[in-house]
Formats: sequence, structure tokens, C-alpha cells
Amino acid sequence: MLTTRPRGTSDILPGEVEKWQYLEQVIRRLCREYGYSEIRTPIFEHTELFERGVGETTDIVQKEMYTFRDRGGRSITLRPEGTAAVVRAYLENKLYAGPQPVKLYYTGPMFRYDRPQAGRYRQFHQLGVEVLGSHDPALDAEVVAMAMDLYARLGLKDLELHINSVGCPRCRPVLREKLQDFFRARLDRLCPHCRDRLERNPLRILDCKEERCREAGRGAPTSLDHLCPGCGDHFQAVLKHLDNLGVAYTVDCSLVRGLDYYTHTAFEIIARGIGAQNSIGGGGRYNGLVEECGGPDVPGIGFALGLERILLTMEQQGVVFPRPPKLDVFLATADEAARDRALVLVQKLRREGLAADRDYLGRSLKAQMKYAGKLEVGLVAILGSDELAHGVVSLRDMATGNQEEVPLDRLAEEIKQRCSEVKL
Ligand code: AMP
Repeated sequence: MLTTRPRGTSDILPGEVEKWQYLEQVIRRLCREYGYSEIRTPIFEHTELFERGVGETTDIVQKEMYTFRDRGGRSITLRPEGTAAVVRAYLENKLYAGPQPVKLYYTGPMFRYDRPQAGRYRQFHQLGVEVLGSHDPALDAEVVAMAMDLYARLGLKDLELHINSVGCPRCRPVLREKLQDFFRARLDRLCPHCRDRLERNPLRILDCKEERCREAGRGAPTSLDHLCPGCGDHFQAVLKHLDNLGVAYTVDCSLVRGLDYYTHTAFEIIARGIGAQNSIGGGGRYNGLVEECGGPDVPGIGFALGLERILLTMEQQGVVFPRPPKLDVFLATADEAARDRALVLVQKLRREGLAADRDYLGRSLKAQMKYAGKLEVGLVAILGSDELAHGVVSLRDMATGNQEEVPLDRLAEEIKQRCSEVKL
């Protein structure tokens, strides 16, 4: 136990973490360009928030939450998703009183007690965006296009965008009744959870992960056939805007999102080739959620993309990650006197904004050069008694083997110049 991490979690080690940093860098730039501000909410919230904000009949709430009592006896849950917390923060901090709409994004770990497999973990990471305060169908299209833009910037290809309209509280009762009739006739083919859902929320049955429920759901009535005129117009407008933006999509009437309070647009992005867990992102409108959480009638829309699955897809599609060097310079020392100076010198280089390091294990010069080679450092500054006596260092280009003496007081400048010449 002491040397084993919990199932479904991972250590992101050096070598791998640079890929995450690159992904996060692309994400931050994208969000800034689309006018989003970052929000950071707690990793845990009151359990009730998710019961309300995700929906009591969802898989997440029924089966997947990490819920515990804290020492004060409160029921606490590790966040399984980001939207409910953003809505809570929007209300608690009265963000509705400022200019609307409010465009927020977040990245961070989410927790779901699910059966781990390739692409499915118990702690995983999402990028989420949420826009609160606008009904505009052009915004739905923009949110979808933003997700597709991120994938494209990361070099992903051949993705499938599925889109649907799940209607609104006006048109849903008709669908609800039709679905109940449909599934009542197939009750014995449903899992116990779905039998339970039949009366409370039959739409959820279409979203069950159990194979037998998926099978039983074939040919079920769809939301698209039961949209009210308002929902129909909204959906057509979203599709028109997507056409104008040149975003390719497939209308998929079987698509229901896993969370309650979704209205109108629902979408999901699939990457074939990464296994059974091939949804790399999804989102939709949730015009009922803010009110459900005790706030004013404010519409919302957003998406959540799974970062592990994006990275998996990048690897699977052979995307080359940029690999900036870890260190700009390694300071190698030839003798004891130089070692003392190295401590001061390496600090000076860091203050100049350079990534610099030195030996901490009393290695010989030869062993230090070998170590620098393993670190894949481009430049090694060699300092010995001779160099010290003349106020210089020998700067060695590890790629070419060329070595040159550089005055100590020009060292930082010289390294900076050479680093800027390195092509990443
Ligand atoms: P959801 O919040 O369920 O709509 O999920 C949004 C995205 O998060 C999915 O499309 C996946 O890419 C990712 N995701 C959801 N659950 C997991 C999980 N257990 N492990 C890894 N990624 C996940």
C-alpha cells in the first residue's frame, strides 16, 4: 500500500509533465483569445450542490461520487465535474450583478468512482468553459467551435462532432411520456437503476452505460421529433452558425448528455482510435441550472474536455510535442576552489533569468560532463583554477563539442545569445 497509488489515479512524472504544461499553455492562450477569464473553485463542495446541480438520477450522483463526512459531520464530495461549482460561485459571488454574459474557464482534477480502464480514471482532468447570461444560438455555435479550435491547434485530426437538441421543459413532457411508454414495454430488459429512472427521469435511460439498456433503447422516441417551435428554431440557428463557421457536424438524435438540466444544444466530440472511452469532450446548454441552484433565471452553456483523453489522442495520432530544453546551462567544476565559486555563479545566472544548475554530488569533471549529457543540456560552463585565475569560464557547446573562453562578466549575456539561436 505504501508504494502503490490508489486505483484509477496517476503520477505525472517529469518527461510526461512537459506535455501537460504544453497543453495548458495552448488552453490558456485559447481561452484568452475567446474572452474567458479563469475561475478556481474548491476541489470539494457540499454534496447537495452536485445532487442538485448534476441531478439525482444521473450515474455520477447515483454511483460515482467520492462522498464523505468531514469531522464536523457535513457531507462533502470531491468534485466530479465543474459546472455546478461554477454556477455556485457565480451566485455566491453575485457575478450576475456585473456585465453579462460572464465567460469563465477552469482546468483541474475531477473525481469519479468509475471502473478504471484505458481513458477512464478515478482522478482525471478537465478543461471546462461556462458562459452565463446569454440565449444567443450564435454563442452555442461559438462554444462548439472553440472546442474544435483547441483540438485543431493541438494538431488533432479526424474527430467527429455529434450534436443534438434535447429540448426544453416545454417540449420535454411529451417526450417523457413517449419514452415511458416505450420503456414500460421493455422493463425487463433494463438495469435496476434504469427501472428506477423510468418514472423519475426516463431520458436518463438513453444515457446509461449498461449494454442491455443501450440495446433496449434502440429505436426509442427522440427529442428531435418532439421539439417545440422555439427549440426547433434555436437548433436550426445553431446549425446555420456552425455552417457559417465551417465546422462539420453530425446531427445525432441519440445523444443525451449525462447531466440533468441540459436544454437545447447538446454536443460531444469523439476520437476514434483511442479505445472504448473515445469521447474527448462534450457540452451543452443548461438554461435551467442557475435557477435550480437557487439563483435567477439565467441561461448557461459550456463544455468540458478530458485532458487525459486529448493527450491519448495526440499520442495515438503521432503529434510531436515541442520539447523546450530543461536547462540553459550546466556549470561544471574542475576542483574544490571552483566548486565554491559555482554556487555563487549559478545563483547569479538564475537572477539573470537563465535556467542553470550544477553538481551536488562531488562528481569528477568527467562524471559531471556525462551527467550534463544525460540532462540533455545544450551548454556547459566549465570552471577550474585556471579559469578562475583569468576571470573566464570555458563554454562548451554540447552538440558540436566546440569550446570557447568567455569572460565571467559576459557569461550570462553570451548564454542568452546562444539560447536564442537554438531552434526549438
Ligand atoms: P462529462 O463531464 O461526463 O461530460 O465529461 C466530459 C469529458 O471529460 C469527457 O468527454 C471525457 O473526455 C472526460 N471524462 C469524463 N469522465 C472521465 C474519466 N472517468 N476519466 C477520464 N476522462 C473522463
